[in-house]
Amino acid sequence: MAKEIYNYSVRCRTCRCKFEVQLFDTHEKNLFLVDKKHWFCEKCKNEYFEKQTKQLTDEHKNVGFQELAGTQKTVSWAVKIRSEMLNKVNYLRDSLAFADDEAREKSEKAFTLFLEEWQAKTEAKWWIDHRNMNVRDISKRVEELTQNIQEGES
Ligand SMILES: [Zn+2]
Repeated sequence: MAKEIYNYSVRCRTCRCKFEVQLFDTHEKNLFLVDKKHWFCEKCKNEYFEKQTKQLTDEHKNVGFQELAGTQKTVSWAVKIRSEMLNKVNYLRDSLAFADDEAREKSEKAFTLFLEEWQAKTEAKWWIDHRNMNVRDISKRVEELTQNIQEGES
């Protein structure tokens, strides 16, 4: 089934100006987007991204992450990705159950090591390249690191 291109009129959430967007999904999905998505005109978009980038960057600094390097556009995309990826880590962390304190400690150590690996990634491009990393991928790497800790101790 060929996808059609539709033009939609949306309103900037900040300055309330109306502008047109082209959407490429099914009409139903597009309508959903038009309704639910926060739209911004070019001018407000840039201001919004700058603000959002700064806010997320500050949040990430609090958990040991540095400012990202790249163009304004890639950095603003990358910090958003980083935010989502950190949410996945937190989700995984919260979902784990442990047999005993030792297992819990090992896991905590592995998570710290895991985050250190990410903290070393300061290029916006790395985050964009890894944006599809899911909870399962993260879990796999944390397990590897946990395994390493066990081997290091025996
Ligand atoms: Zn606007």
